Amino acid sequence: MTAPTLPGLEPAAPTPAAPPRPGSRAARMALPRSVDVLKEIAAEYGVCVRPLAMRRTDLDTGLTEVIDLPCGATREDKCAPCAKKNRRLRQAQIREGWHRDDEPLPPPEPATEEQKALILFRAHLEFSRDEAIRAAEWGQVEELDEGIREVEEAITAEGLRGRVGPPHAGVDEDADDDSGRRRKRSTKRRQDAPELPRRKVERRTVGRTYTAADGTTYRPSMWLTLTLDSYGPVRPDGTPVNPDRYDYRRAAWDAVHFPRLLDRFWQNLRRCEGWNVQYAGCVEPQRRLAPHAHFAIRGTIPRDTLRTVAAATYHQVWWPAVDVQQYTADRPPVWNEDASAWVDPDTRCPLTTWGEALDAIDENPQAEPVHVVRFGTQVDARGVMPGTTDAERTIRYVTKYITKHTGDVHKATTDRQRKHLDRLWRELRVTPCTDRCANWLLYGIQPKKAHAKLKPGRCKGKVHQRDTLGIGGRRILISRDWSGKTLRDHKHDVRAWVQALLGVTTNSATADGGPAGSPGQLVDDQGDTVERVRHAWELARPDDPDVGPLSHRLMRSISERARWRSELLAAKDRAAQGSADLSATQHNARHDGEEGDSGRGFDHRAGRGPDQHE
Ligand SMILES: [Zn+2]
Ligand SMILES: [Zn+2]
Repeated sequence: MTAPTLPGLEPAAPTPAAPPRPGSRAARMALPRSVDVLKEIAAEYGVCVRPLAMRRTDLDTGLTEVIDLPCGATREDKCAPCAKKNRRLRQAQIREGWHRDDEPLPPPEPATEEQKALILFRAHLEFSRDEAIRAAEWGQVEELDEGIREVEEAITAEGLRGRVGPPHAGVDEDADDDSGRRRKRSTKRRQDAPELPRRKVERRTVGRTYTAADGTTYRPSMWLTLTLDSYGPVRPDGTPVNPDRYDYRRAAWDAVHFPRLLDRFWQNLRRCEGWNVQYAGCVEPQRRLAPHAHFAIRGTIPRDTLRTVAAATYHQVWWPAVDVQQYTADRPPVWNEDASAWVDPDTRCPLTTWGEALDAIDENPQAEPVHVVRFGTQVDARGVMPGTTDAERTIRYVTKYITKHTGDVHKATTDRQRKHLDRLWRELRVTPCTDRCANWLLYGIQPKKAHAKLKPGRCKGKVHQRDTLGIGGRRILISRDWSGKTLRDHKHDVRAWVQALLGVTTNSATADGGPAGSPGQLVDDQGDTVERVRHAWELARPDDPDVGPLSHRLMRSISERARWRSELLAAKDRAAQGSADLSATQHNARHDGEEGDSGRGFDHRAGRGPDQHE
C-alpha cells in the first residue's frame, strides 16, 4: 500500500522498533561512547574533568613532573566534581558556624610595649604634620609624610592589623569625580535612618541559651527567608498574569540593588537587637525570577523583630534619573577625543557629566532617590534545633543551587516562561549596574570616570547578562564571624582529617582529590608557607609534549582516586572498629570528606516552604 496520505494523517503510533541489525550503524550508535563513560566515571570518583596541568620542578634534583590540579570551578556546567566539592565545603562552613556556643574568634592579644610605642610615635608625627600645614611649610609636610609612611610600615611589621588612620589627602587619589576635586558627601543624598529602636551593639555573636525545668539547655538557631515586593500577580509557573502590567523596571532595579538591601537589613537588625548577629545564606531566584535570600542565623531573634526590621529596612539609590532613554545602542552618543567627553552624535554637545548630574540632585530641594528597594511582606522565620535532620536539610537547602547559574535554577520550559525571562532581561540590559556603567550614556549622562572604551548600552557588567537574572554579585553570603574560618581553612580541615585517618604525616599531602596519588606522594596545591621552598611551579601548556592527552590524564587520576578511596574506606573501617570516640570526626567525614553527595535524598517538598511567594 503506497497510497499517499495527507500530511498529519499518517498513522500515529509507530510499530515498536525491532532491535537494530547487528553491525548496522544504528546498532553502533546505540553503544555508549567510551569517552563519555570516562567523564562519567571521573565525575563519580570526584576527579576534576578540566584539570590544570602544572609543571613542578624539584629545585634540589632538577626533576620535573606534570601534575594535574583541580580547576576549582564552582558551577556544575564547568566541572561537576569541583562544583560539588565546593558545595560540600560550603555546607561544612555553614554547619560549623550555625549552632556554635562559643565565640569563633578569641579576642585579639593585648598590644606589646613596642606596638604601643610605635602608635605613640605615629601620633606625634600626625601632630607635627598638622603644625607644618598651618605654617605652610610644605617641604616639611612632605618629609613628615615620608616618615608617616615608614612608621606605618613598621606598625604592620610589628604585627598590628589594619591601618591606624585613613591616608592623608593627596596620598590616595580616590577623587570622586573627573575634575579631581573630592566630592563633599551631600546631606541630600544620605540614607534616611529607619524608624527602629537603636541599641549599642555588643561584641557577642552567640545566641541565648534556654534552660528547661529539668535543667536541659537549648540553644536554638534560626532560618530566615527574605523576599522582594510584588511586581504584579503571577501564575504558579512564575509568569505574570498580565505581562503588560508587570513592573519589569522595578523588578530589574530591585534585583540589581538587592545585595545592598540585605546589607542594610543586617546592619539594622544588629543595631535593633544590640548584638553582633551572624548569618550564612544564599541569594537565589524565585520562580518569578526575582531574587530572594535564605539565611541560617546563629541564635534566636523574636519573629516580630525580624518582621519589623524587614519592614523598616530600605535602600535609597541616589543616582540621576533614567525616565527618558535618549539614545540606543544603534544610535549611541560618540566619544570626542578633543573634548575628552561623550557627545551627542548630532549636536556634538557634551553629555552631562556624572559630577554635574549629582550636583543637580544636591541643588534640587525636591529631589528624590531614583529608586528605593524594600522587602516584600513575606518574611519566613523559624527556629531550628542543632543536630536535627531539620538542621541538615536546611543546610542542604541553602547550598542546593550554588553549583548552578542563576538562570539555570528554574528552566524556562514554556513559551510564557521564555517570554517572561526575555522581558526581564531586556529591562536588565538597560538598567545601570554601577555609577561607572556604560548604560548611563543611553540616558544622556556620562558615567563616573567615563572613557573612550565604553560601549553605550553594551556594558559587560554581570547583571546585564541573561543567565544572572540581575543577581550579579556573590550568591553565598557569610558574615565575618560565622565560623571564624575561610573556605580555605575548611579545606585544610578536611585534609587534616584524612591525613590523620591514614596516618600520613608528610606535609605535602592533599585530600582534595586533585593530584591524588598514594598517600605520602601527594602534592600540596596550597603551597606551604612554613616549609622551605623546594619546588618551582609553572603552568604547562596543553600541547607540551610532557602533558599528554586529557583522556590519559583523566584515566590516571581516576585510577589513583579509586585506589585512594578504597584505602580511605579501609582506614575508616579500622578506625570505627578500633575506637568509638572517633564518632565526632566521622560526622565531619560524612559531610566534608570524600564520600557521597550530601545533596542526595533531600526531600524537595519539605524544603519548599520559602520558595512560595505571592
Ligand atoms: Zn574541575
Ligand atoms: Zn553595567
